Amino acid sequence: MDDSELRSVLTERIASVRARIADACRRAGRDASSVTLVAVTKTVSPNIAAIVAELGVNDLGENRPQELWKKAEATPSARWHLIGHLQRNKIDRTIPLVELTHSVDSDRVLESLDAFGRKRGRPVPLLLEVNCSGEESKGGFARDEIPTIGDKVVSLAGVTVRGLMTMAAYADDPQAARPAFSALRELRDSLRTRTGLALAELSMGMSNDFEVGVEEGATFVRIGTTLFEGLSE
Ligand SMILES: *Cc1c(COP(=O)(O)O)cnc(C)c1O
Repeated sequence: MDDSELRSVLTERIASVRARIADACRRAGRDASSVTLVAVTKTVSPNIAAIVAELGVNDLGENRPQELWKKAEATPSARWHLIGHLQRNKIDRTIPLVELTHSVDSDRVLESLDAFGRKRGRPVPLLLEVNCSGEESKGGFARDEIPTIGDKVVSLAGVTVRGLMTMAAYADDPQAARPAFSALRELRDSLRTRTGLALAELSMGMSNDFEVGVEEGATFVRIGTTLFEGLSE
């Protein structure tokens, strides 16, 4: 596919995803502007990532730091979201490129990010990843660890916890994701009461289940396959 074909396919897919987000917002009585579409570019080239940003999806997500470095170099004007595990030895190079890290999944990473934020004199914005599905293959804090982590983060000057992120277990039926998403929202609500933090953000919903995510209160949906399936250059 050449760039003009890519542009026309992507324009259509973006419009369709945005319409589906807007419909889900309407069902939930929410304003469509309260949901940010993050295009997950992990399966496509830096060129395609740049095109999707030019077409107006300026929030882009990568799950691997090295891929993010490469693509952020090609599209520095995008807001980059890290959505996968961050090794501590990659913090210094990755965090300056990133708008929001969605996937803080351990105490050790949290402490290293706090040290980084204190050193640079500006807190690192992040979401805590929660394993709501109970699957061992999925990363994140267990739900029952979150209150303790919440008590801890209020005293960390180097990080700003802006909310929670989760991945539902894959299922053919998107409705199967609903309990995990409503659990994340309820966990956020109780953590907010406990800590006094605003915790405005909920990152939940992927290609298969983003409408359910929006109905349950997602402020970020992370979409790869629906936008990029079958696209190459
Ligand atoms: C790959 C990935 C996505 C996008 O998944 P799709 O099903 O392709 O939309 C979202 N979140 C995370 C953490 C991912 O790794």
